[in-house]
Amino acid sequence: MHIGLERHESGSTAGFWRSRMASVLLYWLVTGFVLGHLGFAYDYAQRVNFVREGVTNRIESELEDGVEAYTKLIYDGVQHAHFFAEIPLMKRTLSDLGGENREILAPILERFANAFGRYSQVRVLDSEGKEQLRFDHSAVGDGVVRITALQDKFDTDSFELATSLPPGGAYVSAISPNSENGELQRPPVPTYTTVVPVDIGEDNSTRVGFFVLNTRVGDFLQSVASELVPQLDSYTVFFTVIPSDSQRVQCWILREGEWSYQQEAKIPIPAADYEVFVADGDPRATFNRFKQESTAYLAQNYDVEELFRIQTSMSSNLSVSVVIDNADWDALVARMLPSGWLTRYFVILSRSILGSLVLAFVTLAYLEAAVRIKRSRDALQKKLDTDHLTGVLSRSGFEARRSELREMASFTEAKSAICFLDIDNFKLINDTHGHATGDRVLAQLARVLDRELRDTDLLARWGGEEFLVMLPNVSTHVAHAVVERYRKAVEDFIFIGSNSQMVRVTISIGVSMCLKQDFEAALEAADNALYEAKRLGRNKVVFSAESYATRPVIEIGSIVPNVFCRSDCGSFKLHDYIGEKWLVLFSHPKDFTPVCSTELVTIAQMGAQWDRRNTKILALSVDPVAEHERWKADLATISSCEVFFPIVADDDLVLSKMFDMLPEDAYLTNGWMAEDTETVRGVFIVSPDKRLQASLMYPMSIGRNFADIIRILDSLQGDVKARTIA
Ligand code: GH3
Ligand code: MG
Ligand code: MG
Repeated sequence: MHIGLERHESGSTAGFWRSRMASVLLYWLVTGFVLGHLGFAYDYAQRVNFVREGVTNRIESELEDGVEAYTKLIYDGVQHAHFFAEIPLMKRTLSDLGGENREILAPILERFANAFGRYSQVRVLDSEGKEQLRFDHSAVGDGVVRITALQDKFDTDSFELATSLPPGGAYVSAISPNSENGELQRPPVPTYTTVVPVDIGEDNSTRVGFFVLNTRVGDFLQSVASELVPQLDSYTVFFTVIPSDSQRVQCWILREGEWSYQQEAKIPIPAADYEVFVADGDPRATFNRFKQESTAYLAQNYDVEELFRIQTSMSSNLSVSVVIDNADWDALVARMLPSGWLTRYFVILSRSILGSLVLAFVTLAYLEAAVRIKRSRDALQKKLDTDHLTGVLSRSGFEARRSELREMASFTEAKSAICFLDIDNFKLINDTHGHATGDRVLAQLARVLDRELRDTDLLARWGGEEFLVMLPNVSTHVAHAVVERYRKAVEDFIFIGSNSQMVRVTISIGVSMCLKQDFEAALEAADNALYEAKRLGRNKVVFSAESYATRPVIEIGSIVPNVFCRSDCGSFKLHDYIGEKWLVLFSHPKDFTPVCSTELVTIAQMGAQWDRRNTKILALSVDPVAEHERWKADLATISSCEVFFPIVADDDLVLSKMFDMLPEDAYLTNGWMAEDTETVRGVFIVSPDKRLQASLMYPMSIGRNFADIIRILDSLQGDVKARTIA
């Protein structure tokens, strides 16, 4: 139950002990100790530090009354707990866990729990913190239920603290909202926990378990408070805390006698550094002081004045609400975090000091508990999400990040590559160099891979010596380049073993693009591809067959896309250009290059042959229209031959991609700039029904044999005729 209050101690300690108030607190402190390890007392005494000078005799006696009543409540609970811890049936139950005693003890505890409604839970834990018996008061408050879904309480704070208790000791927690399985109970129920050990043997030297009572304290607080503050029912007390390193802003509201709890916004939380303002005398004066100080503090430290508003709604002098009003918590936090913690606040206003203190304590305890629960859950989550050996994501961490990605509008899972990476012959590395070296290799490998990742990529240790990488928003070809880079980086890396020896390692990688398959199917396909990479001799990258499904290939016999073409002879749609004729579409890498020029002139000179075969010509290059015009003019002067057909200006690569005219390398660049790439020499023959009849691909450096293209055309036309006749 520590919340960084210590920082407030210095400076005020001397004055504190001198004040009259101090004697009451000392009494309280001492009483707490005498009652046996009542850890709450110390914290509470510290908190009272906040109460300012000027506390009157009347207030002191109120405080004493309240403390006495509260102390008695706690003392009763400890006595009850000790009673049960001492009975032989309890000891026998816990020393013989599987035995029959448990069922004899159960009805006794049930009757006890029924008789004392304030015990919201009665539980028996074994020495390892596992529940053996548990009774809960049902939410509606009518009677006790035996809970059969028993929990493991090993990692709760109460259990941890109770394990260090001496025989006969007792632990009493602060008041906190009850939480079950890590979830805060709703509506919140102010509860504190009493734990006593159950010991057996001579001198009670063997610990067999613990007896635990959860005490509901809301009614008590309510009754104390309303005795002292008769108009309590008309109060609205609104506590707000802005934290700095957690995820929530918490508000506790006591309104007309009912507690409610709100988690206002997801923001990084405060390590509960706060100040309590207590109304002594005129609440309006206190409130004004609070308002001035806090606003000034915020303005000075965080430059967030405009984000922060305190609303006064003092309809009566007993009702106050303080609102830290901010629609844009994220912005607030973003501004505050770099400058440190936003320390503060909350406000408790009451006509009675004791009323204030009771509320303050309860609230502080709640807040602490909430912060602590949140922290421990965050820490646990972080632990679960990170692989301890390599520091990369664990499987659960990967799943969490993947869900986050899926929430993002810019992310399409279908465009992701899933890659399984597995170390080759890792067993051999373990066998040769030892397991410690194996571990080091794993950790170093994770670093090598991590270095190669882009910001958006996810790397997880999937298990053993197997890693998973997810590359969002990549084409197959980009994925290929990235993954090949991984393989090479690992091959080139010199790993250092536990005896400083150098170790070489290779990995095999199986990749599958999500494309039309879902994530699970892609995982499986990647796994199969990995298996294939191993089969092919390891240190290899293998893509699943599914990964190539979108490579834009127009198959022979299929209708060519009716794509919009811009050319030096105007713009048209491809099918319109073809009309009732045959088409020879040919691409060439670049205007003005010698091979291209020769080819273009050759085709132009063959004009009559194309005509005879009812065939139109269309050229294509990735240069713009103006380039084509200049080039044609150039060709006319040197060859005295008119290039009579249009040259498509495919500078946005639309056609080139559609017909898969780009060389493999072109797919590796993200930008697809026309300047960066050149088409391969492709020839596509299309029949009048717009179907692709033949395609021929040549590398960039080799010119085409157009006589052969005529031969193919003839053959195709004969073939089509034959088919038509048949
Ligand atoms: P292959 O090339 O077919 O993948 O051969 P391999 O030896 O790498 O594959 P196999 O799956 O047979 O062996 C994996 C080995 O990885 C076995 C296991 O001892 C080792 N391993 C798994 N996790 C760890 C770990 O955390 N640390 C160490 N040092 N070794 C691990
Ligand atoms: Mg392996
Ligand atoms: Mg393996």
